[in-house]
Amino acid sequence: MASRYNTRLIRKRRTYTTKEIAALFGMHIRSVLQWVAKQGLSPIEGSSSPYLFYGEALYDFLTKKKQKHKCSLLEDEFYCLKCKCRRKGLPTEFSITKTETKIGSKGKFKAIKMSKCEVCGIKLYRFATYQKEVPDRIN
Ligand SMILES: [Zn+2]
Repeated sequence: MASRYNTRLIRKRRTYTTKEIAALFGMHIRSVLQWVAKQGLSPIEGSSSPYLFYGEALYDFLTKKKQKHKCSLLEDEFYCLKCKCRRKGLPTEFSITKTETKIGSKGKFKAIKMSKCEVCGIKLYRFATYQKEVPDRIN
């Protein structure tokens, strides 16, 4: 299962053993060894048993790993959890539900956009903001 790792726990100027990394993120030592064997986490040259890692190298590795899954969406796009990428919603299924919940400091309200994935057809949701229309004053 893909996990999120809090990179703020890493001290860049420290060295870590595999056991310490496993304890830091609450995972098994084997997972750290998989990073070394298959995903390109590089230990300090010459260290073999136990592996030693620079904190900065670990930080860079996990930051890169995080960036790989990030994608920025345009105004009319959704993130599809089944396709695991950005998709346009079907225009016929599109709807916006406006709520009375305020978010942020600019007085905008929360809205929920809904649609269906154009490829796999599952429901897609996305949060948005809207500015409440102020009714015209009658003089
Ligand atoms: Zn999809």
